[in-house]
Amino acid sequence: MTKEIRHVLGISGGKDSAALAIYMKKNYPNLNIEYYTCDTGKELKETYDLIENLESFLEKPIQKLVSKKGSSKDPFDHFYNIYKGYLPSTSSRWCTKNLKIDPFEEFVGNEQVISYVGIRGDEDREGYISRKSNIQSIFPFRKNIWSEDVISKVLTNDNIKSVEEIYKFSSNTINIDRIIEIVNQPISSKFTMQQKLNLLLDQDIKEFNRVIFEYLKVTDYPLSRESNFPLIDNDEILVRDDIFKLLRESGVGVPAYYEPLKFEVDGKEGEYMRSRSGCYFCFFQQKIEWVWLLEQHPDMYEKAKYYENQKEGFTWNQTESLTELADPKRVENIKRDYLNRHKNKPKSSALLDILDDSESEGCASCFI
Ligand code: SF4
Repeated sequence: MTKEIRHVLGISGGKDSAALAIYMKKNYPNLNIEYYTCDTGKELKETYDLIENLESFLEKPIQKLVSKKGSSKDPFDHFYNIYKGYLPSTSSRWCTKNLKIDPFEEFVGNEQVISYVGIRGDEDREGYISRKSNIQSIFPFRKNIWSEDVISKVLTNDNIKSVEEIYKFSSNTINIDRIIEIVNQPISSKFTMQQKLNLLLDQDIKEFNRVIFEYLKVTDYPLSRESNFPLIDNDEILVRDDIFKLLRESGVGVPAYYEPLKFEVDGKEGEYMRSRSGCYFCFFQQKIEWVWLLEQHPDMYEKAKYYENQKEGFTWNQTESLTELADPKRVENIKRDYLNRHKNKPKSSALLDILDDSESEGCASCFI
């Protein structure tokens, strides 16, 4: 008997993955989704609170995956020792691999898995989770729910005839003539794969999904083993506002670190907050977020400083140490710069400002 495929959804502690869990429970209650989170041991308290709230809503536990279980240290410190005090950075992200990707791949093993990823319809990033062939990523919030590799495989010029046949055989859409015309237009320097994809999706999202699902049957992708997949009938596109709405209306709530807090500089008022989940010392933070950490979680700021002080020349930021950043004059400057950069924007958009600046950076494993 063929083993059922597994459905998994990773909770990073960020708003989008939490909203996706809520969305999947509400819309696809019959999918037996396993929820997991990779705990680095260095998350904010707000992240652990969110996970607890989510567990109550989902009415099932979120499995905590811990890298190097059994070590006397927490996962980050375990690897920090192995790397001999070498701090992770944007150019050497040993943390993501060891603390997020590896425990996830171990959890999945060699089983066939569909992994649901909360990248939104208004984002332009793919979201690297894993490149293992037994793991297939699906993006329910996007217009295109399929991963890049699936799209490249299906829309390659060599496949024009097969795709045309599938459309002709199974299509109920009134736009079929236009669709066939698009399918038959080869990809070239003047007509990119992305353009072709968009045109096909614009004609009929559900029909496009049905064609992809049909095509996958002759591949080794996990979904080739399924006789049906409810998400092929999903043509909803969720953007940032929808995410906040889902979180608030479900009662789970927006992670507390997203709530804007007031600060004052030169007699002017501004708002700051943290824009993402992840370790409290994450090197993807903007300066204003470090100031937020310093003022809202001084104990954690001190701990982040502790790592820097262990090895000369190692800093989380490329331009300054946390000791330098904590100088009151420097803090004032950071706030002033931040206010100046955003002075022409309406006050209520402060949250969007900081999110817009930084959301596209980083990795899907930590920040969705
Ligand atoms: S949140 Fe930042 S520091 Fe933590 S594992 Fe992810 S990339 Fe590394």
